[in-house]
Amino acid sequence: MSHRIEPAPSARAKCRGCGERIAAGELRFGESLPNPFADGEMTLWFHLDCAAFKRPEPFLETLEGRSEPLEGQERLASEARQGIVHRRLPRIDGAGRAPTGRAQCRSCRAPIDKGAWRIALVFYEEGRFAASGFVHAGCAQAYFETIDILPRVRRFSPGLREEDLAELQAELDRPVAPEA
Ligand SMILES: [Zn+2]
Ligand SMILES: [Zn+2]
Repeated sequence: MSHRIEPAPSARAKCRGCGERIAAGELRFGESLPNPFADGEMTLWFHLDCAAFKRPEPFLETLEGRSEPLEGQERLASEARQGIVHRRLPRIDGAGRAPTGRAQCRSCRAPIDKGAWRIALVFYEEGRFAASGFVHAGCAQAYFETIDILPRVRRFSPGLREEDLAELQAELDRPVAPEA
């Protein structure tokens, strides 16, 4: 079996990208991988948006291989392309205010102050996403090479309100000063 896009036959599968269930009838992306525990293959399921954000290469290849376009095709393809051009973008797993001052930024290596906005990262390896620390919102440009990240943040931190996103945008726009 190869990667595929198909309607979910039931609501049983959870999306690997966001952890939420995929509704019955909704289109989903299936990434086919060798099964590490047995012969044959296993399939990882994703919402289309989550696949565009977190698995851009196999998703785009599958999307472009379809004979008929699907709803939102251009937007999904464009987000996936962004994640291929800017190789660290697929690591984005949401954003929030730091609950403590203990985490160190993976970009500038300075501590992230308690209460400061930070972007959460996951690294993908062999079918698994592992939580992999944080970067300052102000380090987004340096780390991701772009600050056009709000669609990803909204997707993976659905609890954020518009005012939160406005605060985050303000910090994205204000780069962290390099250490003197
Ligand atoms: Zn999802
Ligand atoms: Zn930083």
